[in-house]
Amino acid sequence: MQENIPTPNKEDIEWAYLLWNSMTVGGEWTLPSVGVYERTGEVELTLKEIHYSTPLTDAVTSVFDQHHWIMVLADLIGWRIEEKVERAFDHTIEVNIPDEMLGDVSICNARCGAMFRVEPLSTGVNYTMIDDDATCPCCGGKNCVDDVLKGVHVVLDDGGWVLKQARIAQNKIIAEEE
Ligand SMILES: [Zn+2]
Repeated sequence: MQENIPTPNKEDIEWAYLLWNSMTVGGEWTLPSVGVYERTGEVELTLKEIHYSTPLTDAVTSVFDQHHWIMVLADLIGWRIEEKVERAFDHTIEVNIPDEMLGDVSICNARCGAMFRVEPLSTGVNYTMIDDDATCPCCGGKNCVDDVLKGVHVVLDDGGWVLKQARIAQNKIIAEEE
């Protein structure tokens, strides 16, 4: 959990208590930028949908931390939060992760260092959709990603890309100094 996420205060606790208790069991509550919770019991909410609507770089911390914040809040008033995510949306696009591709790993054809993994839906993970041109999200090269990944939401591992960029920048500085 990020330090910039405040601990729930008295108003937050009252707000949650009133809001959740006013819901009927089976009723849904949409928390913007996080997702949809359903009241699944007397003192239980279940996260059913995830909404990634914040910018890419903040998405991991915001969705995950806000969901975590809700869990902390729930704990304070004696509620439970379950997770049973069935659908997720990236802005307004439904996140598409075909079951039969789970575990697939591939790399950018331009060998820019980017790696793509097909992983199951989770609140703690950020997904990037590969577009119809198979554009690599790191180097921007077209037709750089396996065709089968077009329209699929992948987990982008840019560790190799970052290392390469650092090396290229370093070489440039050396070249300029000579
Ligand atoms: Zn690339």
